[in-house]
Order: sequence, then structure tokens, then C-alpha cells
Amino acid sequence: MSVAEALARIRARIAAAAAAAGRDAQDVDLLAVSKGHPSSSIREAYAVGQRRFGESYAQELVRKARELEDLKDIEWHFIGHLQRNKVKDVAPRARVIETVDRLDLALEIEKRAEREIRVLIEVNVGGEEQKSGCAPADLLDLLRETRGLSKLRVIGLMTIPPAVDDPEDARPFFAKLRELAREARAAGLDPGPELSMGMSHDFEAAIAEGATLVRVGTAIFGERPKREDG
Ligand SMILES: *Cc1c(COP(=O)(O)O)cnc(C)c1O
Repeated sequence: MSVAEALARIRARIAAAAAAAGRDAQDVDLLAVSKGHPSSSIREAYAVGQRRFGESYAQELVRKARELEDLKDIEWHFIGHLQRNKVKDVAPRARVIETVDRLDLALEIEKRAEREIRVLIEVNVGGEEQKSGCAPADLLDLLRETRGLSKLRVIGLMTIPPAVDDPEDARPFFAKLRELAREARAAGLDPGPELSMGMSHDFEAAIAEGATLVRVGTAIFGERPKREDG
């Protein structure tokens, strides 16, 4: 299947999942996760209207942003674990950094950003030890501490739930992210409207629980080749 065909199928499935949830399909955006795939695949997706692409490794983002600099309105989202020393490479290129999970990282982004940069707070909803993301109990503090920053703007929450075989089993974790956003709003710390959740195997379940942005890689570009270093 070509990238264009796969994209068309995913868009149709997003629309169907939104309709089934009584939601407007316009309210669910698609991030095409291109990590591990060549710039030529990104061009194929861009040619059929895809503009938002997700990358997980700083050096890979730097290289692709250069290879694709002629695509003027391409929008990069950084979705990988971000180390402070990589912020200087990522901040100038990413429109959105989806993986802010601690204050020192937020402060480094604020320092390195040349213009407004949108971020999502990544929350470890499953409380898994190996996973990045702030603990649900720390979310309000992080929202409070990042509120006064002038360039960094929090526009929502992001999560990667624990791996489960049946997407239905991921739903409580998606619901939890939505609930955390609601609680923050009630506490006067509005995290913004975005809920980035759902990947190739479970994006429909995420849409049922309120996802506004789904991050889909494999179902668009195919299996990822073994990763290069980034
Ligand atoms: C790789 C990745 C995805 C895409 O996963 P697929 O299963 O290929 O759709 C989504 N989100 C994050 C954070 C990722 O690292």
C-alpha cells in the first residue's frame, strides 16, 4: 500500500471513530509519526496534504528538517524523550514539543526558544517506572511552575499508556488523561485543549476518550527499519 493510500485509510478511520463517539472529525488531528522512515516518505505524505509530522530523535529531526526545508508549511512535533542538551537542536525546529515532563526541561526550552514554542505536558498515566512523563500527582505543580514562562506555552497533555494487546484495555488510561485535564482546569490551571493520545493500534479507543491529536506511524509508513542513531 502506498503512503497516500494508507493515509486516506487512516483519515477515514479517524472520521468514523469520531462519528461513533459523537464528535466532529475536525476536532481530531493526525500526527504522522515519521521516525525511522526516509524523507522521501514524508514527501509522499506531504503531497497528499499531510502537514504535521512526529519525530523522536533530535539528530534525525535536524537532518530531516534540512532535507525538507523546501516544504515551507511542514510542522514538526517532537515526541521522543528529550534530554536537556538536545533542546538547542530541537527547539528551533519543532512547532510543538510533546514530551515536557519536568521543570528543568521546560526552563531549558524557554531559554533556547527564539519564538513562541508550544508544548504538551507528558503524563505517565500508568505510573510505569521505566517510562518518562510526569507523575499524575505532579501535574498541577508543573502547570503552575510553567505558567509564567513567556515563550513556552502549554497547549495540552500527552500520554503513552502501558502496552496492552486489546486497545479497549487502554481506554481507562486515555480516560485518565482527560480527567487529569479536567481536574487541572477545575483547579484554575488550564492545561489547554489538546489531548495527544493514541497510536497505530489504539487510536480509535483514544478518540472515543477524547483525543484531539493521534500519533500514527506504522499504520501510515509501515514497519520501521532498525533505528539509526539520533
Ligand atoms: C513511535 C511513536 C508513535 C507511533 O507509533 P506507531 O505504533 O508506529 O503508530 C506514537 N507516539 C510516540 C510517542 C512514539 O514514540
